[in-house]
Amino acid sequence: MGEFDLITHYFKTQQNPQRPDVALSIGDDCAILNCPPSQQIAITTDTMVEGTHFLPTISPKDLAYKALATNLSDLAAMGARPAWVSLALTLPKINQDWLKDFSEAFFEVLTKENVTLIGGDTTQGKLHCISITAQGLLPKGCALRRDKAQIGDYIFVSGTLGDSAAGLALLLGKEITNLKNHDAPIFAENYVISRHLRPTPRIALGQYLLDHNFSYCALDISDGLLADLGHILERSHCHAELDIEKLPYSEELARLFSQNDCEKLALTGGEDYELCFTVPATKIKDFQKAIASSDLPTQITCIGRITEGKENKITLQRNGKVVDLSLTKGFDHFAK
Ligand code: ADP
Ligand code: MG
Repeated sequence: MGEFDLITHYFKTQQNPQRPDVALSIGDDCAILNCPPSQQIAITTDTMVEGTHFLPTISPKDLAYKALATNLSDLAAMGARPAWVSLALTLPKINQDWLKDFSEAFFEVLTKENVTLIGGDTTQGKLHCISITAQGLLPKGCALRRDKAQIGDYIFVSGTLGDSAAGLALLLGKEITNLKNHDAPIFAENYVISRHLRPTPRIALGQYLLDHNFSYCALDISDGLLADLGHILERSHCHAELDIEKLPYSEELARLFSQNDCEKLALTGGEDYELCFTVPATKIKDFQKAIASSDLPTQITCIGRITEGKENKITLQRNGKVVDLSLTKGFDHFAK
């Protein structure tokens, strides 16, 4: 099987949802897309390299899922509606079983989100490498941006934090010396591993915040809450206070770790792909009322406030008292 047969067979398939705004899809030098005049296009690219961003043992289905999920999560963080993706794939060799699994899982996600694969590039290389460019639609001028936090805003996160980092440690076979419970139930371990392999991009939430004008500022948490919230503070020129006792972590994580470790994982663990966003004080009552009666499929937790200050700084407090968790001194969740 050559490059063109591979593309035709696995990627130019009937499984690919054909959106009406795609004027020309896979098969020419470029794809051509129609964008409604009232909308803007949000574009993001993420690359995953074998050995660096994923373990060589990952299944092709999990890999396809995660490569897409991380890109769709970036669109979600801007409040964009995912529309089109391109796929640049580097493979050591043509393995039909691998390609079948990869493309099946790939189109499963695209079908669910009504996204069309519009093109890509296929190359040979020493390692597997997946680079996806995702594009989404936004009403003009309404994107949720990192530079839009205002003093007094409330800080929220979706879902639970820290699961993915714990799942990765288990996958790496790290000996977790601080495991609370050495007979931790296997379902708890499986849960955090699945959160690492199959993070949920919070697409509906991003659009909900934008459509209802509840938020102007959001990002997705890929490097850990403290690091990513730091990006908002840097771009918006302000400080934040976080209430540690409010950090949402899963029951499963609590089965595996002490409360202290769960909090540290929630603050610093990467790859949860939850949204962190701010809500202006003037909108907070309406927002809380609205989410209580909304059918959003994820929990939403208020974890702090945006405060005044020029440098990017996060003050951690427990029940109103400032605490120092010494997280900057290189907290390591797991034994080497
Ligand atoms: P060119 O040499 O003009 O860049 P290619 O030979 O690389 O074109 O690709 C032929 C067509 O197949 C193009 O339309 C391209 O977008 C598409 N394509 C290549 N690889 C992939 C892929 N992995 N997934 C989807 N479309 C692809
Ligand atoms: Mg090409």
